[in-house]
Amino acid sequence: MYELIEKSTPIVQKYGGTSVGTTSRIKDVAKRIAGQYKEGWTKIAVVVSAMTGETNRLVALVNEVNPNCPAKSYDMAVASGEQVSVALMAAALAAEGLQAEPFLSHQLGILTDSFHSKARIKSINMDRINQCWDSGIIPVVAGFQGVTEALEITTLGRGGSDTSAVALAIAAGAGFCEINTDVDGVFSCDPRIVKNSQLIEKMDFEVALEMASLGSKVLHPRCVELGAKFQMPIIVRNTFTPNDHRRTCVMNLANYNNLEAPAVSGVTLDKDVAKITFLDLPFDTAIVSGLFSAIAEVGVNVDIIVHNMPEPNSKTMHLGFTTSKGESKKAIQAAQSYWAHKYPQKALEVTVEDSCAKVSVVGVGMRSHSGVAATTFSSLSSAGIDIRMVSTSEIKISCVINSDHAEKACQVLHKVFVEN
Ligand code: ADP
Ligand code: ASP
Ligand code: MG
Repeated sequence: MYELIEKSTPIVQKYGGTSVGTTSRIKDVAKRIAGQYKEGWTKIAVVVSAMTGETNRLVALVNEVNPNCPAKSYDMAVASGEQVSVALMAAALAAEGLQAEPFLSHQLGILTDSFHSKARIKSINMDRINQCWDSGIIPVVAGFQGVTEALEITTLGRGGSDTSAVALAIAAGAGFCEINTDVDGVFSCDPRIVKNSQLIEKMDFEVALEMASLGSKVLHPRCVELGAKFQMPIIVRNTFTPNDHRRTCVMNLANYNNLEAPAVSGVTLDKDVAKITFLDLPFDTAIVSGLFSAIAEVGVNVDIIVHNMPEPNSKTMHLGFTTSKGESKKAIQAAQSYWAHKYPQKALEVTVEDSCAKVSVVGVGMRSHSGVAATTFSSLSSAGIDIRMVSTSEIKISCVINSDHAEKACQVLHKVFVEN
């Protein structure tokens, strides 16, 4: 990608938690950036995550103090991991003889809405970054965090530094956004789960977005959404391989012939799934809509929804749906308070299963290949894996299964669709 653009073009490079996980890694990253700067790439902006494990440590501290921590305090605490790495990276660049300046989001003006823990970026003020570039200084920006108009610190959701980087690339008019991580790129499945995973060299935004949204952790879904909206190419590469090593380029492949695309490009796994079931609800659309409106009002995302009758000719139904594990309690509380208000005579009966996982197969070729669902179900069934819920779109099939079988399900589906 570097060979396709002028050296004066802005470039955003993001380094994830493992890439800045130790001081020696930070120094190695600084050496790479210094090398590129000295070659003439003078408009690099660096975005960094917290050192590996740090955000988890901060989340645990908050939960120890208060599992229902108010959103502002939560975000202020968990955003602090990036403050350390941004300063260390600027210091390491200075040790390489470069001028670098560390920035937190409020210093730059990375403005977000006020939905704490899942804030969305509204705008980025480029003044200070442009001043840096004009003065030969490399700006180093804290990922994951933003600030509201009222100067409250917000965070963009776990893994959100990717989104900070792509948003900055768009604001800067960069040639591309480079996501430097601990694997060579986006693979057909998480290489830690499926040994034979294959690197996908060129990926359309559409497939990348579906894979990211369905649990492939390597890219934050909202960074792909932004990349697609503003046509910003995203390069995913390994921090510690040479610059010409294999990698993934996520870009617009609209001219790519779907007929020739494989039915399935990737298999994804999401273990952050809770299945909630409301038992014995009357068949009444108003009740169902009331329950889901109450859940939506507290900001919980509901994923797969199914309903079934406990027995033939039953007058009631069971209504099952999934949320992330962290949000299941909030969803149940919202539904229960709606129900208690509407039907005080009978308590809402609820069951929750936390031992769920969602395995999905994704590919634009599904549009023109039939039989993908049938093969998915028969492969899982032959491996003795029960499917509890299913959801489909034009380019994906997702199955909710018991989390004990999660890795095996990925291996089985990868073998049948990608390795064959
Ligand atoms: P970073 O800290 O650099 O942001 P992440 O841990 O967020 O890195 O993402 C990289 C990890 O994503 C990899 O180590 C890998 O285990 C996981 N991963 C999940 N699915 C995929 C996939 N399809 N391709 C590549 N990596 C994946
Ligand atoms: N440090 C944050 C997290 O661990 C953001 C990121 O790494 O992208 O979720
Ligand atoms: Mg990440």
